[in-house]
Amino acid sequence: MTIDSSTATLEFEYITLGQRVLFGTGKAAEHLAQEVQRLGATRVMLIAGDMEQAMAEQVTAQIEVVVNYSNVVMHVPIEVAQDARAVARDNAIDVLVCVGGGSTTGLAKAVALETRLPIIAVPTTYAGSEATNVWGLTEASRKTTGVDDAVLPTTVIYDADLTMSLPVELSVASGLNGMAHCIDSMWGPRADPINQALAAEGIAALSSGLPAIVNDPYDLAGRERLLYGAYLSAVAFASAGSGLHHKICHVLGGTFDLPHAQTHATVLAYVLAFNMDAAPQASQRIATAFGSTDALAGLQNLRTALDAPRKLADYGFTADGIAEAAEITLDAVPANNPRTVTIKDLTQLLTAALEGSDPSVLR
Ligand code: NAD
Repeated sequence: MTIDSSTATLEFEYITLGQRVLFGTGKAAEHLAQEVQRLGATRVMLIAGDMEQAMAEQVTAQIEVVVNYSNVVMHVPIEVAQDARAVARDNAIDVLVCVGGGSTTGLAKAVALETRLPIIAVPTTYAGSEATNVWGLTEASRKTTGVDDAVLPTTVIYDADLTMSLPVELSVASGLNGMAHCIDSMWGPRADPINQALAAEGIAALSSGLPAIVNDPYDLAGRERLLYGAYLSAVAFASAGSGLHHKICHVLGGTFDLPHAQTHATVLAYVLAFNMDAAPQASQRIATAFGSTDALAGLQNLRTALDAPRKLADYGFTADGIAEAAEITLDAVPANNPRTVTIKDLTQLLTAALEGSDPSVLR
């Protein structure tokens, strides 16, 4: 029988990143001790910021720590990375353990990038860096990112207990950062049906977890769903690559120093509005995952319920930056974006996001 391949509908290449994920509330210390032993490591370098030290102490209670490195700075300045690498080398470290948000994971990745040391990551926000092989470094105020499997943590330990202390406002912004990974994965440069399935489940988990913890920050099931959704979102994003949303936010964070999670939480509605009608199948999946008939309505209803970040003006962006941001972003727009993007489009999108106006005007 001859097969008519012109009727085929599924053709893609999907790469699974290899890492062990241990999920269990109240089990981080036990899981960490197990993993350190499994790796045969004896010289642990702990990386945790000042605000994360109490959590780190709890998590490392059952292991010996040779060095406790706490000089964590957002966006990983190269000087900090070089200092941390030297500390790792001088102390003959054989495993890195990071306990904290994306900034802390980012520093561990910067150390692993050069030393090739394995990382055990214990994330305490919903940024998702622990599930990607993407690193970032800032040199002379310019942020560079790259991909290297050596920075992918060998093991991720999720413990919802550690996220209870994350303030609600930051939890909302961080959860919407995860949501942005999901939505951008629907049309990123390497989007495929597996990324889209993970992203859809991520949207459902995040959109049920966020209202639960806004209602009660100590709602354990809600906190667990958020970590689960954050992981799915990052796996989808690592595979699909940066879409239009991430390109815009990368410029806003890197060149204009806007805060990471809040910027993602704000810009997402505008990119979704801009792209959705040009990507009807993806939009339908997003809408269904929100339990809505319309993707933008689903996101906006959630954002209203969460009192989510609304306008970039609240985070230090001004109209003076729009022309430069639009210009830098235009060069980075992925060729496969569902809709053609012009300077005029980016100017309109950034203006709307700056002012917090109704995103539906971008459709
Ligand atoms: P963050 O790590 O800077 O954390 C924000 C604040 O929350 C910090 O003060 C931190 O100490 C505090 N915090 C963290 N966990 C806490 C907890 N459980 N309780 C109380 N306070 C807590 O912010 P973030 O949004 O997690 O990470 C942002 C950084 O991660 C950015 O630099 C971004 O570029 C990077 N990132 C990288 C990737 C990647 O794939 N490489 C993906 C996502 C984010």
